[in-house]
Amino acid sequence: MNRIAELDHQFVWHPFTQMRDWLKYEPIVIVSGRGSVLEDIHGRQYLDANSSIWTNLHGHAHPEINAAISAQLAKISHSSHLGLASEPASILAKELIDLARASAEESEARREPRPTGRDGRPEAVTTGGRETSTRRLAKVFYSDDGSTAMEVALKLAFQHDQRTKGKRPVSFISMDQAYHGDTIGAVSLGHIETFHAAYGPLLFSSEKVMSPYCYRCPFNRAKPERADARVYRQCEFECVGKVEEKFAELHGAGRPCAALVVEPAMQGAAGMIPQPEGWLRRAAEIARGFGALLIADEVMTAFGRTGPIFACEREEVSPDLLAMAKGLTGGYLPMAATLTTGEIFDAFLGEYSELKTFFHGHSYTGNQLGASAALASLKLLREPAAELHRRALETAMTKELSALWDLSAVGDIRQAGLVAGIELVRDWHTREPFRLDERVGIRVCEAMARRGVLTRPVGNVIVLMPPYSTTPDQLQQMARAVYDAVDEVTRSQ
Ligand code: PMP
Repeated sequence: MNRIAELDHQFVWHPFTQMRDWLKYEPIVIVSGRGSVLEDIHGRQYLDANSSIWTNLHGHAHPEINAAISAQLAKISHSSHLGLASEPASILAKELIDLARASAEESEARREPRPTGRDGRPEAVTTGGRETSTRRLAKVFYSDDGSTAMEVALKLAFQHDQRTKGKRPVSFISMDQAYHGDTIGAVSLGHIETFHAAYGPLLFSSEKVMSPYCYRCPFNRAKPERADARVYRQCEFECVGKVEEKFAELHGAGRPCAALVVEPAMQGAAGMIPQPEGWLRRAAEIARGFGALLIADEVMTAFGRTGPIFACEREEVSPDLLAMAKGLTGGYLPMAATLTTGEIFDAFLGEYSELKTFFHGHSYTGNQLGASAALASLKLLREPAAELHRRALETAMTKELSALWDLSAVGDIRQAGLVAGIELVRDWHTREPFRLDERVGIRVCEAMARRGVLTRPVGNVIVLMPPYSTTPDQLQQMARAVYDAVDEVTRSQ
């Protein structure tokens, strides 16, 4: 074993890893990366098929992001954001707000004209997630990672509720299999038994609503977009009905919902569960109708991963709080942001002695290196050619993945933009899942690594989320590795 691997085995404890298993094998030690390729200590190359746990956007060692970080490094790496401002963090805040507003306007422009009232003017929208002018994102609160961005969103939503509606018992609603991070507040919003059950006594209780997991729909409905709907009963969005029931139940019980928390478009750690068209819009309308805020966790989905810059744009929904992290710096440095409306911001204004201040902040808030990397990454993201390239990659991905339907262990292939989840099952006819102790997802990913493609599974779901620097050939290589690895592992199963 090489020296670095030895040191790792001796001293390092890895996240989300059964360390007894880890210590049995020599780990892959990454020493460099360029574009979508990672290189290990032996000079072996791998494709980074999950963008280094969903963070990297434009590829590794991108000259423009590297140059931006180096230029900032020559000036200063970090100064406190507690009591001081900085150039890159201020400019980045403006750019993020501009980006969020442009994204909202883009989706507003796409929607059909609103019904007109008697006097011929558009009718005011009272519910629904659609009105963007009154619910515009206006302020940026920086933190360090996805968990802290969600922790901030949660605390802001809670205090906003208490300040604007008086001290009252409230609930938070999030989705079945939700994952919003590993800090205790974020874990409280989560509903993944395997990760979260152990911490039960430490958590506040949040309410759970079913997620629209169409592949395992308990109502046996067709996905609304599927042409072969004859096999199933036509979808009537019973899952959205459950959301409404939950809001009504909590309202009736005197614990109204302060905020609905969602991962728009695609629930990542749940196993890449995409929402059918219309789900988010309807759920947001229900939340609005009950006077609740909408918290969008775009930690995974922001910056074009699922197609548009923000996933909320797909459904013309404007959240009150928008959390982003992973791809914010292009995947180069840990930095996160929670965007809020002016209305929420205003609820925290007052005399110092009123103690309305938002008492929350981290030492590295607004880190200048991170903000510089983020500015360079946003510039790359907005280049028209980059967007065309992403669209082309999405189409190529759909095509490459379609070959996987030949494998009987492939139950479902789910794709939103450049995020894909391939759900493996014992038998596609019955959709029977593999047991946890069979470690099928893990074994498939190990077999992919032997073929030079790196990713991590979510249970029995194989995740492909290539950086935008990926070429069509590399994409083909990734899909082929999934095919061959699934075939190898499941043939004997
Ligand atoms: N929210 C979502 C949707 C995520 O996917 C993740 C991480 N996978 C988080 C929050 C937590 O982010 P972090 O790991 O950066 O704390």
